[in-house]
Amino acid sequence: MSATSGELRIVNPANEQTIATMPPAGLEEADEAIARAAAAGPAWRAVSPGDRARLLRRFAEAVDGAIEELAALEVANAGHTIANARWEAGNVRDVLAYYAGAPERHSGRQIPVTGGVDLTFYEPLGVVGIIVPWNFPMPIASWGLGPALAAGNTVVLKPAELTPLTAVRLAELALEAGIPEGVFEVVVGPGSVVGWRLVTHPAVRKVCFTGSTSVGKAIMAGCAEQVKRVTLELGGKSANVVFADADLERAAATAPYAAFDNAGQDCCARSRILVEESVYERFMELLESAVKNVVVGAPTDPSSEMGPLISADQRDVVAGYVDGSTVAFRGNAPEGPGFWYPPTVLAPVGRDETAWREEIFGPVVAVVPFEDEADAIQLANDTEYGLSGSLWTRDIGRALRVSRALETGALSVNSHSSVRYWTPFGGFKQSGLGRELGPDALHGFSELKNVFISTEG
Ligand code: NAP
Ligand code: MG
Repeated sequence: MSATSGELRIVNPANEQTIATMPPAGLEEADEAIARAAAAGPAWRAVSPGDRARLLRRFAEAVDGAIEELAALEVANAGHTIANARWEAGNVRDVLAYYAGAPERHSGRQIPVTGGVDLTFYEPLGVVGIIVPWNFPMPIASWGLGPALAAGNTVVLKPAELTPLTAVRLAELALEAGIPEGVFEVVVGPGSVVGWRLVTHPAVRKVCFTGSTSVGKAIMAGCAEQVKRVTLELGGKSANVVFADADLERAAATAPYAAFDNAGQDCCARSRILVEESVYERFMELLESAVKNVVVGAPTDPSSEMGPLISADQRDVVAGYVDGSTVAFRGNAPEGPGFWYPPTVLAPVGRDETAWREEIFGPVVAVVPFEDEADAIQLANDTEYGLSGSLWTRDIGRALRVSRALETGALSVNSHSSVRYWTPFGGFKQSGLGRELGPDALHGFSELKNVFISTEG
């Protein structure tokens, strides 16, 4: 993307070809979209729960019918492998279908009181602003959209300028499914203008932001001005902790995919591998062959396991981190046009080294040995982040002890499970605020109201 001559140029990161141009929206278009969403609010919240559920199911079905089309857009726009892009479009369908079950079940309570009846109600917030990054444009959009609409809110979505195409198509599919005009608006424009307007506009009652920690902090501070609700999903530097008693072969065979999926542009990437000293050498041998076997290639090829980075800028950032560090070994990457970067393993790495501490957001993983369980926990927690993580051990007591000790929001034992829409997702510490997905997501899109009705007189 570049803003020269006023047009947004949408680029295929696998070959650097321009695939679309579009005029960027500015403040005026943002205000108009917010006004449409605000105007659509009263009618949308008045739609009966059963009808709102039916419309969301239809929206899910429309997405299901467009899986190949949406996946192809993401392959071309974000360089995601076709296998991943199909999963992502399917995830949107599943998130919408899951939250389509919510409107009729979003019940308040009746709480015992004397002299009357006490009832609680979940009220919609109003307009919800969703700001989405370029790394997973479709799923992240749907994680806000599904529960927000189910709870009776209307939505203004701002995709990243680099990757707006699937968001634009999702808004069309919503209309085709019968979701009324104004209920789901998409505005494609710069974050500092359109995204920031969602923070400052008083009609927007909540901002869901996913992206960098620095912008997230500014959004939180901006929202404080109106005590605006905010959910933040920010960066990560998650640990993959491998104990000596683990199934080393499986731990090593899966570690590359936990770090290099989506070319490492994943806030959940397990980009720090911690290995118990006694098995460090053996683990590194196994890891080397696994990394060399990662298939990096054309995103359109179904056998590709990793595609390019999103942009030349991102590649420069990633290369900058690697330049100051020691490369143990690398995988392959295609030559020629496209923002390619090979899977890269850094070792030995100091515990204070930048590449060990900062989120790189590329296919780079660093490996550090640890002494014992206490050292592993200390090392894993020695970060400002706390989003995901994995641990590998056959000792169930240790698995539970370490799971409880790690300061992180989404952990997997003997696996690198990806996000499941029906389980909660979100970060500890500077990885975020609030939780998305799971059975309680609607609480983040509702105000809880308490009403006392006197039965006296
Ligand atoms: P970013 O600047 O935080 O962008 C994320 C989203 O916020 C985009 O839609 C962006 O719009 C928008 N935005 C930017 N500035 C804004 C502002 N002042 N007010 C409101 N919205 C704003 O992230 P990035 O520049 O794309 O990536 C930078 C780094 O962030 C990456 O290298 C990575 O480390 C991290 N990152 C993390 C995640 C994650 O999932 N946690 C995702 C992406 C990036 P525009 O881009 O259209 O301007
Ligand atoms: Mg940015």
